[in-house]
Amino acid sequence: MSEQKLEIVKTEDKKPKPETDQIPFGKTFTDHMFVMDYETDSGWYNPRIVPYEPLTLDPAAMIFHYGQTVFEGLKAYRAEDDRILLFRPSQNLQRLNRSSERLSIPPIDEERVMYYLTQLISLEQDWVPSTQGTALYIRPFIIATETNLAVAPSHSYKFMIILSPVGPYFSGGLKPVKINVEDQFTRAVKGGTGTAKTAGNYSSGYQAQAKANKEGHADVLWLDGVEKRYIEEVGSMNIFFKINGEVVTPELNGSILNGITRMSIIELLKKWGIPVSERKISIAELYQVYEEGGLEEAFGTGTAAVISPVGELNWLGHQMVVNNHEIGELSQKLYDTITGIQTGKVEDRHEWTVEVQ
Ligand SMILES: *Cc1c(COP(=O)(O)O)cnc(C)c1O
Repeated sequence: MSEQKLEIVKTEDKKPKPETDQIPFGKTFTDHMFVMDYETDSGWYNPRIVPYEPLTLDPAAMIFHYGQTVFEGLKAYRAEDDRILLFRPSQNLQRLNRSSERLSIPPIDEERVMYYLTQLISLEQDWVPSTQGTALYIRPFIIATETNLAVAPSHSYKFMIILSPVGPYFSGGLKPVKINVEDQFTRAVKGGTGTAKTAGNYSSGYQAQAKANKEGHADVLWLDGVEKRYIEEVGSMNIFFKINGEVVTPELNGSILNGITRMSIIELLKKWGIPVSERKISIAELYQVYEEGGLEEAFGTGTAAVISPVGELNWLGHQMVVNNHEIGELSQKLYDTITGIQTGKVEDRHEWTVEVQ
């Protein structure tokens, strides 16, 4: 193992902080970033926090050609007492390594990276906004950097963490959205890369997203790629339904992304004694339940929105209006509880939050 001591180079030229109520997602970045490199012979080396700046890469760098890359997404929240809290960050680093394994990228040392991450956030603490609903979005990612057009795993990589303050996902309360059930395009299949957070999974969804938007829908409900029967995810979120008092979410089947919000919701529901099941659920079953009046709530889950209520689903000309286009009681309670834990307002009985000193 080569030198692992964290080097810190501070910028002389700090940027002004934006008005966090208005900033669009993902366009503003903080003053510093974390970088470390990998070579087959030395492993990960030269961990450093440096001023945020563009990269220089050879046009033949492997990332540009065969998509060998993975990423994560999590947030740092400002508590009312001014502490900075992360939500289950070790889950993100574990998942990063699972994604990397799928993409033949070497693993990172989760404990070391947790240390680097907290050092970076600590240095950038003034960038963690405090307005209700805002946070500092954290984007760790790895790219293949070897200069080589051969179709094979790269021998060199860069791991980086960049930070971006984000405004509230919903302005003016949680608004249920209209969703198009996609019947043509596929997000992922078992044995593919759907369980990994890797670039191509997202750009391959843009056509379906554009189709949905054109018809006035906010997002896409993905069905399984083989039979187009079973429900998988909604946009880049996991999906839950409340059906006759029971909460149902598709089981992790090898093509669904294992969301940390999803996992946390299942744990909360179990603790609350609300029946929850992870199982196969077909769109036809959902429609039948809907016609019988049993579809009580529907919502997507993910780090960005936490809970995104679904007000309407459209599937091959069948319309399902959920809870009269209003947010359901359980959806609201889950949202309030999770955002409350994330921001220190609700007692964290699960030890989900990690304070950045
Ligand atoms: C990131 C992601 C999710 C949600 O995961 P969280 O850990 O809850 O943020 C769900 N589906 C897809 C496809 C994702 O990329």
